[in-house]
Amino acid sequence: MEAELEHKKASKRIKKIQVMVAEAIRETCDTTTLMLFSGNDHLDYKPGHFCTIDPHQFGGLEPWAAYLEHLKSKKEKPRAYSLASSPHEKHLAVTIKEERYIPGKTKYPPLLSPILVRRIPVGTRMEITGFTGPYYLPDDIESRTDHIVHICAGSGVVPNWSIIKYALHKKLKVRHTLIYGNRKWDDVIYRHALDDLRDRYPDKLKIVHALSREPGALHPGAHVYEGRVGAELISKHIEDPTAVEVFACGPALSKWDKLQAKREGIEPTPRFMESVVGAFKTVGVPKERLHLESY
Ligand SMILES: Cc1cc2nc3c(=O)[nH]c(=O)nc-3n(C[C@H](O)[C@H](O)[C@H](O)COP(=O)(O)OP(=O)(O)OC[C@H]3O[C@@H](n4cnc5c(N)ncnc54)[C@H](O)[C@@H]3O)c2cc1C
Repeated sequence: MEAELEHKKASKRIKKIQVMVAEAIRETCDTTTLMLFSGNDHLDYKPGHFCTIDPHQFGGLEPWAAYLEHLKSKKEKPRAYSLASSPHEKHLAVTIKEERYIPGKTKYPPLLSPILVRRIPVGTRMEITGFTGPYYLPDDIESRTDHIVHICAGSGVVPNWSIIKYALHKKLKVRHTLIYGNRKWDDVIYRHALDDLRDRYPDKLKIVHALSREPGALHPGAHVYEGRVGAELISKHIEDPTAVEVFACGPALSKWDKLQAKREGIEPTPRFMESVVGAFKTVGVPKERLHLESY
């Protein structure tokens, strides 16, 4: 209810903001964080909110967007990107993971993420629209729980990174457990920044890496689990499932995956979000304590 009201309020305050890319930080081989300078604008957002970026503003994408619009018979929409920055920080930031075109698997090549990840030089000016979204840290979080469990995969860590930084900076009376799923170490976004934050707040932040394709991995100070995030791993890190608040974000089945499976007469293979939602049921986390965002 509070989330819905906040979403409505946020929709009213949404505006276009001119920004300049102050820095482009390569996080992994396919992921970049763009630090965005917005001048003197008052930036009214909550940790967890997202902004949108319209691909049509990039001249180099014009023919590509027109071609895809012709093939799809509809206009290409702005893409949503969670804020990687937290409201107490000077710069805005977004972290983008490049989508891939896999012949025979994906129907069209991705439009915006490749250029944001690879071809945005420092100094580029662009327009973003924001800020909104139902996935954010509620103001009354301390009265709801003293333990937030973050369950993320891949670029799903972005809004949770904002939430964790904010809550620690504001010295909120909550501790955090981040269970973060990736294939390999090299896919872990904010790897060093996460280590630094955990070292600064050892009693407040626990990090559990679940790596599905890196057997025998060890990492100083971190808990490393071999395999995917599932009910067994989640239940190990939640003492009382009725007392935590869970923020889960990661890839889910797209409407196109579901349509394709329907055409083939098969059940679509669950992705990260479908799997963890099933796990929360098994573990016994009540629905009203779940905050979910899928990419
Ligand atoms: C709330 C929210 C927050 C997000 N935050 C982030 C973030 O922080 N970082 C991040 O990296 N991403 C984030 N995303 C995902 C992001 O919005 C984009 O979806 C992503 O970057 C891909 O965009 P693209 O233009 O590169 O690819 P697209 O051009 O959107 O293509 C993506 C895939 O969809 C398929 N597709 C597209 N159109 C069709 C069609 N008509 N029929 C069949 N298949 C189709 C393509 O084949 C391709 O496989 C977020 C999404 C949401 C909803």
